[in-house]
Amino acid sequence: MSVERLRTSLHCPACGFRIAARTTVCENCGAVIPVAELAGSGVVSNAVATLLGRPLGSLSLLEIARILAWVPLLVGPPIAALAIIGLKVSQQPQRLHDRAWQGPALVAALNIALSLIVWHYAAQEIGAAATALWTHIDRLAPTALPAGPGKGVDI
Ligand SMILES: [Zn+2]
Repeated sequence: MSVERLRTSLHCPACGFRIAARTTVCENCGAVIPVAELAGSGVVSNAVATLLGRPLGSLSLLEIARILAWVPLLVGPPIAALAIIGLKVSQQPQRLHDRAWQGPALVAALNIALSLIVWHYAAQEIGAAATALWTHIDRLAPTALPAGPGKGVDI
């Protein structure tokens, strides 16, 4: 589904400023257009407002990157944060020296590394647990399963 088709009007959902069809950030208020559109859908926005004390549509791209950078155990959000930061840094290379952008990038990189380590060990644990469970089931099987047809018994 294309972004253009999702967009019902070419106005910023947060402030109503006229925006170009392919714009992702409102020039007037700095709202992230896809996020602002999501904010209009209610349920997600209410959840974010409850968690952060602010409506989803009022968050800047940097704030969204900061939040995504901190989401633990899911590698996707910190990768999305790095993608946002990479995109913004490529647009304005001086952001690379800005601590406001360095922080979330570092958090996202550490989060990805830690999440991969946690998942690596979790996978080993799950594998060991599955093997133990299978051994247990295998040991129970001869007694738990009904006996096969008896040999030499005429019916
Ligand atoms: Zn706006």
